[in-house]
Amino acid sequence: MSFDLKCRCGQVHLRLSPARAGIGSHALCYCKDCRAVAKHLGADHMIGPRGRIRVFQTRPDRVTLEAGGEHIACLQLREGGMHRWYAACCNTPLANSFAKPSLPFVALVLGEREDADCLGPVIGVGNAASALPGDGETPKDRGIRRLIWRFLRRTVSGRMVGAAARSPFLQGGAPIAEARVLSDAERRLARG
Ligand SMILES: [Zn+2]
Ligand SMILES: [Zn+2]
Repeated sequence: MSFDLKCRCGQVHLRLSPARAGIGSHALCYCKDCRAVAKHLGADHMIGPRGRIRVFQTRPDRVTLEAGGEHIACLQLREGGMHRWYAACCNTPLANSFAKPSLPFVALVLGEREDADCLGPVIGVGNAASALPGDGETPKDRGIRRLIWRFLRRTVSGRMVGAAARSPFLQGGAPIAEARVLSDAERRLARG
């Protein structure tokens, strides 16, 4: 089974395969940076209750680019920060990766998709201190050590199979699109 991730207009199509709980970590992040990316792009539909962003952290060799590579663009909130990949055709956030291309890590930005259940339950919640005020239970951090442990395990297994180089966001070891760093004013505006 695979899990398809498409931008809002449908031109960019990424596929996670096989799509099952064991191949990555389903997580929620409440940090201002993840939220700022969605806000900067005007993709408020990807922001969940209390300002959370739902992601699936996995190895990049498990993600393939099926269509629309020419529309993929990249931004960074600051110099050296995470690469924030998005579909420039309709400004949909797609994924995050480290600026250092040798790390076999990608976090797919899922938004509030109901079918994300096939990726297993949420096992980690991070940066809850930056959650937005709102109704319901106040989110709390949990499972961070588990996320880190899984990240380390994937880094080791990924190094053995050359997973980093097989990222859909790299070609010949270089990013497929140059990252644009937001200006201070843009970042301030997006971080609210
Ligand atoms: Zn699009
Ligand atoms: Zn975050």
